This record gives sequence, C-alpha cells and structure tokens, in this order.
Amino acid sequence: MVNGTNQENLIEELQNQVSGTLVRHKSILDIMTKLDEYNARINRAVAKSVTSCGCIEIDAQRQDFNSETLTDALAKVDSHVVGDICPNCKEVLEQEIGAYIYFLASLANTLDFRLKDTVKKELDRTKTLGVYGMK
Ligand SMILES: [Zn+2]
Repeated sequence: MVNGTNQENLIEELQNQVSGTLVRHKSILDIMTKLDEYNARINRAVAKSVTSCGCIEIDAQRQDFNSETLTDALAKVDSHVVGDICPNCKEVLEQEIGAYIYFLASLANTLDFRLKDTVKKELDRTKTLGVYGMK
C-alpha cells in the first residue's frame, strides 16, 4: 500500500510525464474528444465483459432509496453486478482507464492545474461529507 504522499507524487509524476509526450492530440479539442472516446471505451470494455466474456453479469432492477437514514439506504442499494471480472477483462479495463487518465492529465496540463490538488480536494470533500455527498 502506498502512503498519501507517495500517491500524490505518483499523480504529479504522471502529469509531468504526460506533458512531454502529447504531440498528435495537443489541441484541447483533441484532448476533450479523446476523453469522450476513452469514456466510451471504458463502458464498452465493461459491456464486453458481460456480452463476450461472461465473467460478469448485470442484474438490474429499481433501487430502493426509502430508508430511515442514508447509511441504511447505502446498505440496501446494489451495483447490479453479479460475479467477478476476470484477469483478461480487468487488463483491458485498466488499459482503457489508464488512457483516460492520460488525457485527463493532459487536460490538467493544458488548463494549468495540478491533478494532485484536485484529487486531494475531492478526497477531503468525500471524507467530510461521507454518505451525505450523495453522488
Ligand atoms: Zn472476463
């Protein structure tokens, strides 16, 4: 397990590395559309895990949010995923997510903000709000 400081360094290192490698898709228009493309590829990889590989299934039904507390509701809601993703599908999904993160780092570089700061703010917000963040 990597501690918090090393994780921030890892994000910072990736963002710095990405800044020197983007040639063909340097325009923010290319970066924005690449993010869309890899978002679709991530969803496609999950769908192919269901429809081609079969390592996971999706068994979805209406979620029941009626509970006394949000903590109770959290215990009742379901991901609708049945089974475990296999190593092959996981590898494909990791590649697609990695490419998405690459272009997310590119977006951050282009607009001059640090991803590690964004991750830290989101982590702090999530810790503070907990289940009341309700995403
Ligand atoms: Zn699979």
